[in-house]
Amino acid sequence: MMTLVVASLVERSIAGVARSSKKAFAAGAGAVELRMDHLVGLASKPSMLDEAREAVDGPAIATLRSSREGGRSRLKRQSRARLLERAFEAGFEYIDLELTADSGLITRLRGKGGSTKTIASYHFRRPATRHELLSRLGAACEAADIGKVATPCEHAGHAAAVASAALEFSGRGREFAIMGMGAQGQLTRACAGKMGSELVYACLPGAPAAPGQLDITLQSALIEKDSFVFGLIGHPVAHSVSKPMQEAALRSVNLNGIYLPLDVPPAHMTKEFVSTLFDSGFTGLNVTIPHKERAHRICESLGASAESTGAVNTVHRRRGRIVGENTDLIGLKKLLESQKIPLRNRKSLVVGAGGAARAACRVLRDGGAEVTVTARKAGRAAVVARACDGRGLPLDRASSGSRRWDVVVNATPIGTWGSTLQDLTVPPGVLEGRPVFIDLVYNPPVTESMRLARRKGCETVGGLDMLVGQGAEAFRTWTGRSPDEKRMRAAARRALR
Ligand code: NAP
Repeated sequence: MMTLVVASLVERSIAGVARSSKKAFAAGAGAVELRMDHLVGLASKPSMLDEAREAVDGPAIATLRSSREGGRSRLKRQSRARLLERAFEAGFEYIDLELTADSGLITRLRGKGGSTKTIASYHFRRPATRHELLSRLGAACEAADIGKVATPCEHAGHAAAVASAALEFSGRGREFAIMGMGAQGQLTRACAGKMGSELVYACLPGAPAAPGQLDITLQSALIEKDSFVFGLIGHPVAHSVSKPMQEAALRSVNLNGIYLPLDVPPAHMTKEFVSTLFDSGFTGLNVTIPHKERAHRICESLGASAESTGAVNTVHRRRGRIVGENTDLIGLKKLLESQKIPLRNRKSLVVGAGGAARAACRVLRDGGAEVTVTARKAGRAAVVARACDGRGLPLDRASSGSRRWDVVVNATPIGTWGSTLQDLTVPPGVLEGRPVFIDLVYNPPVTESMRLARRKGCETVGGLDMLVGQGAEAFRTWTGRSPDEKRMRAAARRALR
């Protein structure tokens, strides 16, 4: 089965329908969806449907989305039924009916026979569980030729429930379509083919008919050509610039694909979640704050980089096993080398005791530095320090100003754009003695901590080059190809605030 890519047309006039449908087919659509609820004057002039059908030079779906289910139509039951019957007679290849509002009509139109396929749609108002999705999809498939359900997705866990329901349903031999709405639902659109969805809806540039629809050119490429789906698992993910950076990497080696920031609250970061993504067609995943250590526990096999750090930032699947790597190591190593920062026998301090801190400790240690770790949870600092033969120090002692460091690395999110930590700095006391200060935070490119360090006379380095280095290495792991790092850097730089 090949998923049909449908361009939704939200036009007010027949001339608009004619123009947009031409553009949609030229961009790779296999069909268009005429959103009748957007056509002005249709209720008083139903013959517009014949004109609209003639204006579209290819397969078309007629949809009269009611306001109850997220559309514009407020017609009463009888007027609604009259228009939908008229659309049926106008010769549309598909007619979209609402499982609840049009129940009697679906049976009547199906009974008429003919070549028009009926679609029974159901739109959840709040994120649906896997069980609810399966149950509604079953009912919709019983009612019409194609059953279709859509649900809002507030985070990627909701979208994974959609993907998981689709994968289960695809074994039942029924024609169905399923999608998650909103930016976090986009994975269900990118993976529609692998999920077994009969239809996937996309939009012309800037004219989405539903939140989260992908551009028609991209959606067609994702379905029709060999393409890659990558994602970033984090919480939050709004600060990340990995999407433009990794999509630049794809373009630099002429590959098709998409990179999706996936907001995954801690309770949803499970092995089942990660497996569902790979089953649905993901090729590779990055992992960021706060999931790197969790990812390390979830992976079924670990590369040496992940093994030695206890944290995973890059995931792929090999021979059915979820494999974790840590490309932060190579990213940070490249950054230190390019800046010619000496490490041998130097005193280094890592602030923070999460996944990035683990990678920083390993690189500093391998470079010959003495490593001290400090964090607001002293116990965590000690654990991370032990893993690289370093020592842990409570935050108040590390920042008292009485100790001098040669290199200080901020491995906390302090200073990250758009967070409550945006205006904070690392404790000023760690910057006494003019250490080289490396801030792993890359958004903004110059953090408050870097400003403070400069005022104290320190050399400062931001996290952007590390981001590019770790991203390029992850890309190599997923595709076996070496991307153009200059293009990646430029794309990331442009996206920074
Ligand atoms: P993580 O695993 O969640 O660890 C974060 C660490 O920061 C924890 O020790 C946490 O302490 C501490 N922390 C959080 N808020 C703090 C605050 N207000 N004051 C003091 N400590 C605080 O996250 P991660 O993956 O290690 O990432 C850390 C940062 O590095 C992120 O900003 C990430 O974007 C950045 N990073 C950048 C790159 C790059 O390529 N440039 C690569 C990796 C990471 P608690 O346990 O007490 O919460």
